[in-house]
Amino acid sequence: MQTAVFSAKNYDREFLGAAGKAAGHALTFFEPRLDRETCKLAEGFSAVCPFVNDVLDAEVLARLAAGGARLIALRCAGFNNVDLPAAAEHRLRVTRVPAYSPYAVAEHAMGLILTLNRRIHKAYNRVREGNFALDGLLGFDLHGRTAGVVGTGKIGQVLAQILSGFGCRVLLYDIRESDACRAFGEYVPLDQLLAESDMMSLHLPLTPDTRHLIDAAAIARMKPGVMLINTSRGGLIDTRAVIEGLKEQRIGYLGLDVYEEEADLFFEDLSSRVIRDDVFSRLLTFPNVVITGHQAFFTREALSQIAQVTMESLTAFERGEPLEYEVTAAVLRK
Ligand code: NAD
Repeated sequence: MQTAVFSAKNYDREFLGAAGKAAGHALTFFEPRLDRETCKLAEGFSAVCPFVNDVLDAEVLARLAAGGARLIALRCAGFNNVDLPAAAEHRLRVTRVPAYSPYAVAEHAMGLILTLNRRIHKAYNRVREGNFALDGLLGFDLHGRTAGVVGTGKIGQVLAQILSGFGCRVLLYDIRESDACRAFGEYVPLDQLLAESDMMSLHLPLTPDTRHLIDAAAIARMKPGVMLINTSRGGLIDTRAVIEGLKEQRIGYLGLDVYEEEADLFFEDLSSRVIRDDVFSRLLTFPNVVITGHQAFFTREALSQIAQVTMESLTAFERGEPLEYEVTAAVLRK
């Protein structure tokens, strides 16, 4: 199937290219992010393969449909960047990759917890500069601490298992409780999780209900000095409120792999450019903040699975078969 791949990096060419070749799909890779300017590149392609920060608003979708597109095959789990009612209006089907390696993201969240706690980001630089002093690197045992997992779907469950392996008391919160997850922790109301957790990690989709779940009011209910981790979507956190929380030392550690306004920053080398986002720049000034640029998914296993599932969706669509991982506007009403 003729497919336009947007936001294409070298690793996309490697993993999607190999899977596309094996499945007999003709993929054309475009480096730019999909938006109102670049969507004309997709003219004549029946499928479009976007990534997390590509823009799929009503106008872009209308133009893609007018250009002949019939399928949007997202190569990611989240679909908050797609106007699903507009997609339906333009008869564009939308698929995603809901379940690639949850280990990739959960292990990265754990990596952020360990880095922040043991100040590995500081120690790395110190040792390279011949500074072997330990002052300022004091951590705490994770064993026996209380860890909150907010969202106990595929990724949250793996993190709960990892944290229970570390000997943490694990508190869980989700609107749909999972029996499998109960093996690793105890479901409690969100307020209790906020009040009792020494560290907490967010594993929710970004929806109108979850946007700014962590706002000033939630931060006020958290245990002073809490460690907050977000590897899900930046919009789950009100970043300005979190900055206030860091300044007031209510938040003792912050680990982010996602950021509300990441679309203008992440996935590009901006090292010789001036960063104009003052909120992001402020975050970078705190010694107790570690930010990675949306890399939690970035393992060989996850990229292989993403490529495989995306090709399966293209093949099913081409053959007129049911789309196993279709997302429709109905999901917004659930
Ligand atoms: P999932 O669908 O398996 O789990 C999400 C959980 O959130 C579900 O159990 C659901 O019931 C719960 N939930 C939804 N709305 C809720 C609400 N209002 N209150 C409480 N719970 C609610 O998803 P997953 O595979 O575990 O992924 C979680 C998120 O991680 C994704 O939505 C995506 O945004 C993010 N993600 C990030 C990366 C990365 O590289 N940083 C990679 C993959 C996924």
